[in-house]
Amino acid sequence: MRVAVLGAGVCGLVAAHRLARAGHAVEVYERWPGLGGQAATLDVGDGHRLERYYHHLFTSDRHIAELFAELGMPDAIEWRPSSVAFFARGELHPFVTPLDLLRFRALSPLARVRMAAAVLALQRFAGDPAPYARVTARDWIERRMGRQAWEEVWGPLLRGKFGERADRIAMVWLWSKLRLRRSVKGEGVRQERLGYPRESWEPLFGALARSVVDGGGRVLTDRPAARVARAGSGFTVQAGPPGSFRRGHDPREFDAGPGEQYDRVLATVPNDVFERLLDPALASEVGEEYLRRTRAIEYFAALCLLLELDRRFSPYYWTNVADRALPFVGLIEHTNFVEPERYGGRRFLYVANYLPHGHELLGLDAGALLGRYEAGLRAVNPAFSTDWVLRSWLHVEPAAQPIVTVGYGERIPPLRTPAAGLVLANTTQVYPEDRGTNYAVRLGEAAAAAVPVCLDAHGRNAE
Ligand SMILES: Cc1cc2nc3c(=O)[nH]c(=O)nc-3n(C[C@H](O)[C@H](O)[C@H](O)COP(=O)(O)OP(=O)(O)OC[C@H]3O[C@@H](n4cnc5c(N)ncnc54)[C@H](O)[C@@H]3O)c2cc1C
Repeated sequence: MRVAVLGAGVCGLVAAHRLARAGHAVEVYERWPGLGGQAATLDVGDGHRLERYYHHLFTSDRHIAELFAELGMPDAIEWRPSSVAFFARGELHPFVTPLDLLRFRALSPLARVRMAAAVLALQRFAGDPAPYARVTARDWIERRMGRQAWEEVWGPLLRGKFGERADRIAMVWLWSKLRLRRSVKGEGVRQERLGYPRESWEPLFGALARSVVDGGGRVLTDRPAARVARAGSGFTVQAGPPGSFRRGHDPREFDAGPGEQYDRVLATVPNDVFERLLDPALASEVGEEYLRRTRAIEYFAALCLLLELDRRFSPYYWTNVADRALPFVGLIEHTNFVEPERYGGRRFLYVANYLPHGHELLGLDAGALLGRYEAGLRAVNPAFSTDWVLRSWLHVEPAAQPIVTVGYGERIPPLRTPAAGLVLANTTQVYPEDRGTNYAVRLGEAAAAAVPVCLDAHGRNAE
């Protein structure tokens, strides 16, 4: 079969690799002039690559670890100690070991003990996610840990990721974070270890793309899909010309070139992009019922400012910013995780934000944003000066974080759309776990398996 895969993020590349290995002729279309999607890297100079958005792996991320091994890179992931802090009430609080929680002064001693007991019970005994899908994190936390734990710890953390939607986030989202993220046995109990591939995520993308090409396929970057239409039992895909990414994310803005014929199409693009790719006849074949599901899921955008500094900013890798007066939600100092010597002594800090679409900060350039962040950075480190900044890079990902509210699981669109031969796989279908590259690998495998090989006489999936 000739299969078009739309999107060369982790999910699309893994699916393309599997389909190529299964003997299909695969062509991958990617809007960005590089591979990897949300995990894509950029050249920060001197031959060093860093992810546009901070990335690490958890010890529970076995799908991606297995993929590295399968592609001949069994030792690529290095496991390093992580250090976490919490900035609240004008102070940095270390959150590295469980004992740090018991010392956290923003909570009363009783609230600390209740919180520790509830987290431990959840990690050890709560194997079934179903009860947590029916209740908001706020309700569950207030009931099990007390109001103070919500107001001082979990509320600010969830607000960091989900803004004003924090009160509506389903407990199952937090359940998966608490259950899967951290080993509750062995060395991981004392201090968490996180993974980072030795030379960034880029070698993984390269190996996946090579596998597609070795199987006779093509991986086309800076060649977005602009339109998909039905043609017989298959499809026509029209691509936009190189440079289309400068026109934004909406494929209707790209000049659609000549059509290529495919037997199947696997789209790994966000839900809104998917709908805008469909020509009217194919959209009605997909149907209102399916499209209602895709439209019902809201995304928050990630706004990520990467700074190269001439010195260390803080002693921690990951600082959660719980103080609402500060205009960002996290500080991720990559070179407190991977040693600066790897980068010729250079130091990198990501300033992280998640925002609803239309937020005014999303319209600023790197210089203006740094100006807006400066006072907040000084609140965390009073010595900070913008003179420390040697270079900066700004990236915005509109479909960064699906908003997982109560009942989310029932609204997820299935991989196979009602249009025979058209499959959709994206981060909204990663559930109950939080989306991440490990789950994009798992989803890519499932998506490749969902591409139907046989259709019946009515053009429906025959398997
Ligand atoms: C700020 C941030 C931090 C993160 N941190 C981590 C982390 O620490 N660890 C971790 O494992 N994961 C992390 N993630 C999540 C992880 O990167 C994603 O879950 C994963 O990469 C999603 O892969 P995907 O292929 O499903 O989607 P995407 O990566 O979104 O891939 C979709 C692809 O489709 C392309 N596309 C869009 N429109 C078109 C078009 N018209 N034609 C063709 N192609 C198109 C896009 O350019 C993109 O490449 C983070 C994400 C963000 C935003």
